Amino acid sequence: MALAARKIEPHMVPVALVIGGGIAGMQASLDIADKGFKVVLVEREPTIGGHMAQLDKTFPTLDCSSCILTPKMVEVGAHPKIELMTCSEVTDVQGEVGDFRVSIRKNPRYVDLNKCTGCNLCAEACVQRNRIPSEFDMGIGKRSAIYIPFPQAVPQKYVIDPNCCFMLTKGKCGKEPKCQKACGTNAIDFKQKEETITLQAGVIVVATGYDHFDAGLKPEYGYERYENVLSGIEFERLCSASGPTKGTIEINGKEVKRVVFVQCVGSRDKTVGNEYCSRVCCMYTIKQAHLIHEKIPDAKITICYMDVRAFGKGYEEFYDRVQREKVVFRRGNPSEIYKQGETLMVRGEDTLLGESYEEEADLVVLATGLVPRDDTQQVGKMLGLPHSSEGFFKEFETKETVATSREGIFLAGCCQSPKDIPDTVAQASGAAAMACIHLAKARTRGTES
Ligand SMILES: Cc1cc2nc3c(=O)[nH]c(=O)nc-3n(C[C@H](O)[C@H](O)[C@H](O)COP(=O)(O)OP(=O)(O)OC[C@H]3O[C@@H](n4cnc5c(N)ncnc54)[C@H](O)[C@@H]3O)c2cc1C
Repeated sequence: MALAARKIEPHMVPVALVIGGGIAGMQASLDIADKGFKVVLVEREPTIGGHMAQLDKTFPTLDCSSCILTPKMVEVGAHPKIELMTCSEVTDVQGEVGDFRVSIRKNPRYVDLNKCTGCNLCAEACVQRNRIPSEFDMGIGKRSAIYIPFPQAVPQKYVIDPNCCFMLTKGKCGKEPKCQKACGTNAIDFKQKEETITLQAGVIVVATGYDHFDAGLKPEYGYERYENVLSGIEFERLCSASGPTKGTIEINGKEVKRVVFVQCVGSRDKTVGNEYCSRVCCMYTIKQAHLIHEKIPDAKITICYMDVRAFGKGYEEFYDRVQREKVVFRRGNPSEIYKQGETLMVRGEDTLLGESYEEEADLVVLATGLVPRDDTQQVGKMLGLPHSSEGFFKEFETKETVATSREGIFLAGCCQSPKDIPDTVAQASGAAAMACIHLAKARTRGTES
C-alpha cells in the first residue's frame, strides 16, 4: 500500500485538557500522553489522587489502595507530555471541538514549587503545628497551616491554607513567620497572587468525581451527635495504617468490640431525593467488615442492609468469604440510633425474621452514598453539558457513556455516575481513546491510494 497525498487537519489543536486529577483523570491523562499528545491536567486541590488516595484497601482483592495509586501519581507528575496544574480551576471555556479556548485560575499556593524541597521544616515550625483538622484524614487527624495533604502527594510540595495561616488571615505571625525562618530554600512567598492563564485545547475530558452524601441529612442515625457514628470514608481513614491512628480501630483510645454497619445511607432513599444506587457501598462495607475482623478477630460485626449488590468480578465470592467470617447480615436498616450511657443502641426491624431488633454498638459506620459535586451545575454550564436527574453529568446515550452532547468533550469516572475503581479506570481509558481519535486528526497522516 503506497502512501499518497499527506493530509493535515488544521483545526485540531493537539492538546487535551483533563479536568480533575482523581484516578479517572490520571488514567485518561496517562493514556492520552502515552500516545504522544500533550495533556494539561487541571486539579483543584494541592495534589492529585482524589478519593482513592484516602482508601485503605480496595475490594475485592484487598490491594493496598496507595500501592496502586502512588506509582500512577508519580508517573503523571513526571510525564514529559503532561503539564500538571494543581490548586487550579477552569473558569471559562469558549470555542468548539478542535479549538477550545480555556481560562484557568491558578490559586496561590504561597510556596514556590521550584524552590520547595518537601523537607517538612516549615510544618514543624508552624505556630499552628498539628492543630488544624486534616481534610485528607476527614478531621480525625490534624495538620499545620502549612502542610502537605498526605505523604505521597504529587507534587511533593507544601501549601499554605489561606483560611488558617495567621500571616494571611491577620497579616502577622509573631515577630516573623516561623515557617519562613525555618525554610532553607526561601520557598515561602506570602505575596503570591491568583493568576489567570489561557490556553487552547482540541478536546476535553471531564473527570471531576463525586462527593460524599452528608449523613447529617439522616438525623435519626445520630451522625452529628455521636462521635462513634462515622461515615464510610471516615472509617477508611481510621482503618488505614497510614491514617491518624496508624490503623488501630479505636474510639477515644478504646478498641471497639461491637460494630454495626448501616447500608444505603443517602442512596436508594426517596426521603433525601436520591433514588439511585451508589454501586460501591455494599462492597466497601463488606470490605470494611472484613478489615475489622482481621484486626479484631473477636469483634461482633453486623451489617444492616436492604439487599446486597455484589455485581463485579470476584465480588460475590468476596461477599461469601466475609459471611464465613461470621459477620452477621441483618436485612432491615435501622430506624433509629441513640445512646444509652456510653453505648450506641441501633434499633430497627429485621424484615427476614419479621421482628424488631435492638443492638448495642461501640461504633456505627454509615455506608454513605456518592453524590454529585456541589459545583456540577456551574461546571456543566461552563462546558455546555447537561446533567441527569440524579445531578451527575449526562452521557450522550446510555450506551455511549464517555461521549457527551458536545463533540470533543468526554466523561470519565464518578462525575458521570457512581462507580467502582475498575469501572472508573475502564471508562477513563475509553474517554482517552475517544479523545485520541480526535487528536489524531491534527497529525500529518498518510491516506491510502
Ligand atoms: C468509603 C468509600 C470506599 C470505597 N472503596 C472502594 C474500593 O475498595 N474499591 C473500589 O473499586 N472503589 C471504592 N470506592 C469508590 C472509589 O472511591 C471511586 O471509584 C473513585 O475514587 C472514583 O474516582 P474519580 O476519579 O472518578 O473521582 P474522585 O476520586 O472524586 O476524583 C475527582 C478529582 O477531581 C478534582 N476536581 C473536582 N472538581 C474539580 C474542578 N472543578 N476542577 C478541577 N478539579 C476538580 C477533585 O479534587 C478530585 O481530585 C469507595 C468509595 C467510598 C466513598
